[in-house]
Amino acid sequence: MLVPMELYNLTLKKGHLSPELTIGWRVGKYVEEFFAGLEDVSIAAARDDDAILALKYLRRQHSLDNQVTIADKATPWDFLFFHATTGTLLGFCLIRHRTQLPYTIRSLETDLVRDNQALTAIYQAALEQLVNALLDQPVTSYCQVRQVRCRRLQTGVASGQEIHCRSCGQPILHQRAWDIEGRICCPTCSGLVPAWQ
Ligand SMILES: [Zn+2]
Repeated sequence: MLVPMELYNLTLKKGHLSPELTIGWRVGKYVEEFFAGLEDVSIAAARDDDAILALKYLRRQHSLDNQVTIADKATPWDFLFFHATTGTLLGFCLIRHRTQLPYTIRSLETDLVRDNQALTAIYQAALEQLVNALLDQPVTSYCQVRQVRCRRLQTGVASGQEIHCRSCGQPILHQRAWDIEGRICCPTCSGLVPAWQ
């Protein structure tokens, strides 16, 4: 398996090359290229797994901080990136059957602790095959990527003036409202994680 040097170094830190580490690194590189850097890009992930290691590492290449927000409730994405300068939100949803080991292989995991060498070999081969596919295939073959235009509503109204969210109908202060693909939204309905609102 030919592993890019950056990912190889991360593998040494982690101890092994997992599918999650590979996914985090490939998604991070995709976003880095998309926005020509990660300086002004906020990052959130649905779960705290090895992907975070790779995303933090890539973020630190561009910025003094390596902050990645971990969602504290269910989200419609696995990874979310917000480029404040262009008001672009990029959401990634993993396609499970392309990013996870098949169920028959995952079900072997309980047997591996019993030190069964034959099963361990089968499991390792499947793991290597999955990591290879994640490295070789385009990110868009195993992630659905959604781009959303996301800007603060233009100011110029008197402070304290309210407007209604088009999604939930709640009144919100004009300066707290978002324009999501032309739709006026409150912070909750904007789809942004709370730290970015
Ligand atoms: Zn709302």
